[in-house]
Amino acid sequence: MKFDVITIFPEIFNAYLNESILKRAAEKNLIEVKIHNLRDFTTDRHRTVDDYPYGGGPGMVMKPEPFFNAVEHIKSDGVRRQVVMLAPQGKTFNQDMALSMAGQNQDMILICGRYEAIDERVRSLVDEEISIGDYVLTGGELPALVIIDSIARLIPGVLGDERSADEESFACGILEYPHYTRPPDFRGLKVPEILLSGNHKAISQWRRKEALRLTILRRPDLMSRYAPGLKDEDYKLVSEIKEEENKHEYD
Ligand code: SAM
Repeated sequence: MKFDVITIFPEIFNAYLNESILKRAAEKNLIEVKIHNLRDFTTDRHRTVDDYPYGGGPGMVMKPEPFFNAVEHIKSDGVRRQVVMLAPQGKTFNQDMALSMAGQNQDMILICGRYEAIDERVRSLVDEEISIGDYVLTGGELPALVIIDSIARLIPGVLGDERSADEESFACGILEYPHYTRPPDFRGLKVPEILLSGNHKAISQWRRKEALRLTILRRPDLMSRYAPGLKDEDYKLVSEIKEEENKHEYD
């Protein structure tokens, strides 16, 4: 899957993309990320990308022409791409969106804003606006990396073990269970006995129960969304958890 990123800070991407899993994904040609400097698509001597806002007000507005030039240049090879603008006003990104984008495997142009805003007319180039959460960052570069990272790790072959993506938080609607590694006793903090038992069925049931417990306690919103997907065994675990937690509260 190919990502073309339009930014005025191309250097930001190098460090993150050239490490670990994303670096290997690019080496294996599972992803390709091309960074385009918006200033290369300006036509004036000063490579100007911003200007004062019509109507006054604080900050600078990013000019439309360089974005139009950049998107038209990238699309000139005729390959279909989805144009995504990173914007706090966009649809809030989540794992379902990452899954669907990875599944569609459609190449993507990511437009990163800076300053006060991007000229409204740039929106006419855009298929989808995405926000990574209800807060405002200084630029769209981190959101672009968040999107590339979360989609890339869902592309078959990118993660060492495909099961990692199947079992982790949100993949099946709930949070992931807790993990432990050696030593079994660290400063009196012990690994739950069951994980040392070698009893795979019991371990899998413990993990399911602890995943449900975490979701009930920390993300009741996810729990109510996931309720239709609960199996008969889950209802039993949920009532055990509720009993245990109530008891814990009154202890
Ligand atoms: N004045 C804008 C507003 O109130 O919505 C915020 C502009 S912000 C300082 C500059 C750029 O950062 C935006 O154009 C966008 O590309 C990016 N950005 C900031 N927060 C973001 C978020 N939560 N999700 C996605 N992009 C974001």
